[in-house]
Amino acid sequence: MDVNSHAEELASDLGVDKEEVKADLQNLLEYSVPIDEAKQSVRRKHGDGGGSTPTPDAVDVAEITTDHDGVTVTVRVLTQGTRTIRYQGDDLTIREGELADETGTIAYTAWQDFGFEAGDSLTIGNAGVREWEGEPELNLNESTTVAIADEPVEVDHEVGGDRNLVDIEAGDRGRNVEVRVLEVDEKTISGRDGETEILEGVVGDETAKLPFTDWQPRSEIAAGADLRIEDVYVREFRGVPSINLTEFSTVTPLPDRVEVAEDAPRLSVAEAVASGGMFDVEVVGNVLEIRDGSGLIERCPECGRVVQNGQCRSHGDVDAEDDLRVKAIVDDGTDTVTVVLDDELTAEVYGGGLEDALAAAKDAMDKSVVADAIADSLVGRAYRVRGNLSVDDYGATLDATEFVPAADDPADAARAALAEVGE
Ligand SMILES: [Zn+2]
Repeated sequence: MDVNSHAEELASDLGVDKEEVKADLQNLLEYSVPIDEAKQSVRRKHGDGGGSTPTPDAVDVAEITTDHDGVTVTVRVLTQGTRTIRYQGDDLTIREGELADETGTIAYTAWQDFGFEAGDSLTIGNAGVREWEGEPELNLNESTTVAIADEPVEVDHEVGGDRNLVDIEAGDRGRNVEVRVLEVDEKTISGRDGETEILEGVVGDETAKLPFTDWQPRSEIAAGADLRIEDVYVREFRGVPSINLTEFSTVTPLPDRVEVAEDAPRLSVAEAVASGGMFDVEVVGNVLEIRDGSGLIERCPECGRVVQNGQCRSHGDVDAEDDLRVKAIVDDGTDTVTVVLDDELTAEVYGGGLEDALAAAKDAMDKSVVADAIADSLVGRAYRVRGNLSVDDYGATLDATEFVPAADDPADAARAALAEVGE
């Protein structure tokens, strides 16, 4: 059902103006309030409590589907994270995490503080079910009851939010990490409350490195600091998981140095793509071809997007700026990835900078000579590529920070040769 139909149904139930109901609903949905919560809220506003709901049947976690309206479950709380969202113009503190029983795990959002913690065994009555990124999620709201379970719930899953960075995924809530701060920068952004200071940077442990944002800048977050950071949430930023510190996150200096992996984890292209996005990863493969949009390109001076014939999709007719880039398809026998080289890496593989490329294009009266020259030197050869991998509906993209002939390293060359045999 769309907002219109929901509004129509509500308006007729409540006997009030449909446009008013629709405006209320839309306002709530804008702040990602689930439709059921939004409808209840609108009902309350118009003096209808919605009546009492009978407690639904108890189900196993694995049985829950988005077809359930409400369920009763007996579960162990695996994790709990705290976050503030804006709801009807007010800041509302919500708690999120994962619950489990012996049949499986499920994410939850609690719209009020029920007072439970990670490790607690609970019977949760009349939890709403909503779909979140294709999976069912439990919604604990005003109609939900929470009681300590009669017996502890035994689960195979780790209780608590401690994780190594390599295991951190976008969507994680209530995670705790022990890391060294590798880079940190202060930044001013225009947020929903005007200009805000934030910190951005990179943290590492012995398994991986990840970008982070601290929305509540803390003095403990300094380059070289070794820290335990509790209650962070993880969202995707530029295609890779990014750690977010909120006002609820705690930061404690660690007495010992946190060892940080020097090398990026080396994965097959298939493994890297299956991760859904990784910060600082390494693959080795052969360049199959150079894609359109490589070599001498033009960018919009406003937004930096690549433009064709001086036309930016957002800014129309612009005075485009010349730049160098390579988009190379790299194959290691397991899968392919589009490797993007920035102007510096492109200059290395081209053997000349922007001025050289412009001169060559002028001589030939054809810009494509630059991409052709790059293709001549890259295609059919094996490279070790390190960078940040993002995956979307259009495929996998690796923004390279290093792009080195694999032949320089016998082990890489052997791996690349194997990939060729696998073709
Ligand atoms: Zn533009």
